Amino acid sequence: MLPSCRQVAVQLSEDRDEKITGFKRFALKLHLSMCRHCRRYGKQLELSTKTINLLAHKSRPDPQLKAALIDHFTQLSVQRKSEDEKPQ
Ligand SMILES: [Zn+2]
Repeated sequence: MLPSCRQVAVQLSEDRDEKITGFKRFALKLHLSMCRHCRRYGKQLELSTKTINLLAHKSRPDPQLKAALIDHFTQLSVQRKSEDEKPQ
């Protein structure tokens, strides 16, 4: 049985600390392949983790990461605007 979106959110966090393996990993990947909301959440989690790590090390951001963050949040903004403009 596939995990729910709520379970996937927890598993994505757990996977950062200790890699999920076996059938649980397979079910997680299968859910992610079918659910754009969880994929988006996973991407945001990854970017947040990288950003926090950068702040923790007080180093200048990697130009590639900086560009990826700007691109990601620009896309997110465009998606939200187009979702807001859709008729209900
Ligand atoms: Zn989901």
